[in-house]
Amino acid sequence: MEEQAAALRALAAQIGVCPKCDLSKTRTHAVPGEGNPNADIVLIGEGPGFYEDQQARPFVGPAGKFLDELLASIGLKRSDVFICNVLKCRPPGNRDPLPSEMAACKPWLDEQLAAINPRVIVTLGRFSMGRYFPGQSISRIHGQTKKVDGVMVVPMYHPAAALHQGSLRRTIEADFKKLPAVLQETLKQEPEREEAPRKPEAVQIQLL
Ligand code: SF4
Repeated sequence: MEEQAAALRALAAQIGVCPKCDLSKTRTHAVPGEGNPNADIVLIGEGPGFYEDQQARPFVGPAGKFLDELLASIGLKRSDVFICNVLKCRPPGNRDPLPSEMAACKPWLDEQLAAINPRVIVTLGRFSMGRYFPGQSISRIHGQTKKVDGVMVVPMYHPAAALHQGSLRRTIEADFKKLPAVLQETLKQEPEREEAPRKPEAVQIQLL
C-alpha cells in the first residue's frame, strides 16, 4: 500500500510539471487523479474541465457530483476507488482531446494503472473507451464487461453526457448497478489478491 501510494505521488509530481504536449501551456493545474492506491476499481474519464483545472482534482463539477451519487448507489465512496482521466490537462474550452495529446499523455495513465493494478477498470465516455475498444461505439457496448490484457473493463457513458438526458441517465445508473457483481466474479476467479491489505483512506493528490 505504501509503495503504491509513493509511486502514485511520484507520478503526480511528474505529471504536475509535464511539458509533453501544448496543453501544458494553457492548464492552470494538471489533474493526475486521486483515490485509493490499492483500489479494486479504477474509473477513467476523458480530461479535466474548468473546475478540475482550477482545483487539480478529477470530477469535481456537476458531473463529479453525479459520479459520487452513482458510486453511492453501489455502496462506494471516492476513497474506495481511484478516479482519473486519459488526459491530465484541460483542453481549452473543453474541446475534444487531440490524438497527439492522447498519445503524449498515455504513458502517465499506463504507469498509474501499473502501480494500482486494479481488478476492474470502468471507462467513462468514448475517449477512455477507445483505449480498450478502438473503433467501437459506446451506444453498442456500454455496460458489457470484457477482459482486456488480464483486467475486466466495463465501458460506460460519461456522467456529464448522462447528467441531463433522462434515458442516458437511467442507462448509466443501470450499468453502475452491474459493477458489484463484476467485481465479485473477478475476485472469485482470481482470489489471490483478496488477502492484500486494504485500507479505506484515500490519497488526495493536490498540486496546489
Ligand atoms: S496533457 Fe498529459 S502529456 Fe500533455 S502536458 Fe498534460 S500531462 Fe503532459
